[in-house]
Amino acid sequence: MEEKNYQQYNRSHLKIYNSLTEKKEFFKPIHKDHVGIYVCGPTVYNHLHLGNCRTFISFDVIFRYLKHLGYKVRYVRNITDVGHLENEYYNAEDKIYKKSRIEGLEPMEIVHKYTLSFHNLLNILNVLPPSIEPTATGHIIEQIDLIQELIKKKLAYEINGSVYFDLKEYIKLYPYAYGVISKNKMDKLFHKKLKFLEEKRGFQDFSLWKKAPSNHIMNWSSPWGKGFPGWHIECTTMSTKYLGETFDIHGGGIDLKFPHHECELAQAIGIYNKSCLAHYWMHINMLTLNGKKMSKSTGNFLELKDLIQDKICEKNFYPSIFRFYILQSHYRNIMDFSDKGLMDAEKGYHRIIKAIKILRNFEPKTSEKTLINNFNVHHWINICYQAISDDFNTPLLITHLFQATGFIINNSLQNINISHINLLKKYMVYFVFDILGIQETNYHEENSKKLKILIKRLIKFRTEIRKQKNWIVSDRIRQELFHIGILIHDNKIF
Ligand code: AMP
Ligand code: ZN
Repeated sequence: MEEKNYQQYNRSHLKIYNSLTEKKEFFKPIHKDHVGIYVCGPTVYNHLHLGNCRTFISFDVIFRYLKHLGYKVRYVRNITDVGHLENEYYNAEDKIYKKSRIEGLEPMEIVHKYTLSFHNLLNILNVLPPSIEPTATGHIIEQIDLIQELIKKKLAYEINGSVYFDLKEYIKLYPYAYGVISKNKMDKLFHKKLKFLEEKRGFQDFSLWKKAPSNHIMNWSSPWGKGFPGWHIECTTMSTKYLGETFDIHGGGIDLKFPHHECELAQAIGIYNKSCLAHYWMHINMLTLNGKKMSKSTGNFLELKDLIQDKICEKNFYPSIFRFYILQSHYRNIMDFSDKGLMDAEKGYHRIIKAIKILRNFEPKTSEKTLINNFNVHHWINICYQAISDDFNTPLLITHLFQATGFIINNSLQNINISHINLLKKYMVYFVFDILGIQETNYHEENSKKLKILIKRLIKFRTEIRKQKNWIVSDRIRQELFHIGILIHDNKIF
C-alpha cells in the first residue's frame, strides 16, 4: 500500500473509546480534514509528578497520530492559573493562592514559576506544544459573559458576591444530562450527608464566581463585585471559544470525570442548549505508586527528577526511557509504577534504538533478494497501524516493534530485498520517533563519559557559587542543565 493509502485507510478505521457511550467507536470528525481537541491542562502551583506526565504524554501520542493521519489538528490545552479551589464544600482556598502564602511569593510568581517548570518538563519528555494554550486569567471577560448567560437562564444564582450553578434547576430542565460522563446516579449525588457552605442552595451546586477576600490579590471586577472565576467555567469558556460550541475530542485524566468534566458539560448544555460539548470524551487512567494514585496532596508521588537526578551520572537514563515505559501500558489501564518496569523499558528502548541504527547503516550485498523468511514487511506495517488505530493501543504497537527489532538485530536483513528494507526503515522511524515520540540519544560512549565529567564539574562549580550567594549565575546554570534534562534539587547549604 502507498503511504497516502495507509493514512487514508487508517483515518476511516481509527477507533476511539468514548467515555460517554463506554464503547469503542469509529472516529468521525465534525469537519472532514480537521480535528478539534481540548485537554484540561495543569493547575500551575506545583511541579508535575509522573502521573501528570502520563496524561500529557498519552495525549501527545493522540495528537501526533491524528497529525500523522493527515488531519489539521487544533489542540487546545489550558493553563489553570486561578480559581481551582481545594474543594467546594466549605470556604476553601484557591490552590495557587494557598501556595503563594506557603512559598512567600505573589500568586503570579507561583503561576510563572510552575508554568515554566511545566513547559520545561514536557519539552524534556518530547511532548509537543499544543496549538493554543489559553489561561484562565486571560479569559475573565469571556467567563463573566457565560456566567451572566447562566444567570439569565435561571441556572445560576448570585449570593453575597459569589455565583453558583444551580444543579437542581439544571436537572429539572435536563433530567438525564448530569451524570452522563461519570455515570454517577442522581440519588447517590444528592443523598450525601456532608456539611456544605451555608450560602449555597444545594450541596452539589458549584462555584462559577467567588467573592475575593479583601486581601486576595487575584481579583477582577464583575457585576457581582470583586472576585475570581471558578475552575469548571474556564474550560467551558476556552474550549468553546477556540473550538466552537461542539467539537471533536475532550480529554483529561480519569480523575477529572467527576466533578470537573460533568460540570463543564452541564455549563455548556445550559448555555448552548446542545446535547453535548464534545463528541468523544477520552480519559487517561491513573499512574499509581504502591497501588495508590500518585498525587501531590497525599505525598504519594515521584517526579522526573527523582528518576534522573542520581542516575544521570552513573548510567544512561534518558527521559525518553520514561516516556517509552509509560507507553508500554494502554492509556485506559491503571499503571502501577515500578523500578523493575522502568529497567525493563530501558533495555527495550536500547534494543529498538540499536535496530534503527543497524537499519540506518545497513549496506545490502545485492540489490535483488526474494523473501526467504517469515517476516513480511507489508503485513508488519499493517498490524502496526491496526494496533495504534485501535484506540491508540501503544503496548500492542510496541510488541510489533519488538518483533521487527528481533528480526533486524538477528542479522536477517540480508534476506529481504532492498525496497523492503527501505520500507522497514521508514515505518520504524514513523512509529518510534514520529508517533510514539521517542527520542534517540546519539552521542557515543566516549563523548558520553566526557559529558558526565563535565556535568559533575559544573554542578560542583555551582555549589561553590551558591556558597558565595551568587544566585544569578547558579540559577542560570540550573536552568541550562534543566533544558538538557538534568534537574538539580538544592539542599540548604548554610
Ligand atoms: P492537575 O494539575 O492536578 O489538574 O493535573 C493535571 C492532569 O494530570 C489532569 O488531567 C489530571 O487528571 C492528571 N493526573 C493527575 N494525577 C494523575 C495520575 N496519578 N495519573 C495520571 N494522570 C494524573
Ligand atoms: Zn478542564
